[in-house]
Amino acid sequence: MRIIFLGPPGSGKGTQAKLLSERLGVPAISTGEILRSAVRAGSPLGLQAKATMEAGELVSDDLMIALIRDRIASPDASRGFILDGFPRTVEQAAALEKLMAGNGPGLSAVLNLSVPEAVIVDRLHGRSRDEGRSDDRPETILERLRVYHQKTEPLADFYRGRRLLADINGMGDVSEISDRIDQALAVAVSSGRTA
Ligand code: ADP
Repeated sequence: MRIIFLGPPGSGKGTQAKLLSERLGVPAISTGEILRSAVRAGSPLGLQAKATMEAGELVSDDLMIALIRDRIASPDASRGFILDGFPRTVEQAAALEKLMAGNGPGLSAVLNLSVPEAVIVDRLHGRSRDEGRSDDRPETILERLRVYHQKTEPLADFYRGRRLLADINGMGDVSEISDRIDQALAVAVSSGRTA
C-alpha cells in the first residue's frame, strides 16, 4: 500500500506512521526525520535546511521532491510506503503524482488526522519541554501552524477531489486512533483503490 499521512504538526502523524509501518511491513518515510538527521550529520542537505526548519518555514519544493524521488525508488519501498510530512504543498503533491505515474499502483489512501488547534498547541509546547526539538520553540510553533494552514491544509481538498481522503479523528488513545486508521484502510481496500 502507498499511504500518505496529512495533518498539522503535533497531530500524531509520526507516531501513527511508525505503528502502521510495523503493521503493514512497509517503510514509514518521515521527511522531518530525514532532514533532522541531515542537520545532525552536517551534510549539504542539512546545511541547506537548518535555518529554514528552525524558522518554522518549509524547505524548498525542489529539494524535497528530489529527496522523495530517490527515497521511494529505493528497494525497501518497492512494496509500498507510508509518507509522513510529504507532500506539504500542492506542488509537492502534483510532483508525487508524476513520480508515481506508470510506476506501480497509485496511492491507496490519504489519512487526514484532525486534532483541535488548542490541543495541538498544548502538545507542541509539551514536546518542546520534553524533547527540545529546536523548531518546537514557542515562537516557532505559531509560525509552523500558520504555514500548515496556508500551504498544507489545501491538500485535503486536493485529495478529496481524487477520492483518496479519509478523515481520521486524532483525539484519543494511540491504539484507538490506530483502530480508526485500520478501519479507514479497510474501506479503501474494499472500494478497490488499493494494492
Ligand atoms: P511537524 O509535522 O511536527 O511540523 P516534521 O518533522 O514533519 O514536523 O517537519 C519538520 C520541519 O521539516 C518542517 O517544519 C519543515 O521545515 C521541514 N519539512 C519536512 N517535510 C517537509 C516538506 N515536505 N516540505 C518542506 N519542508 C519540510
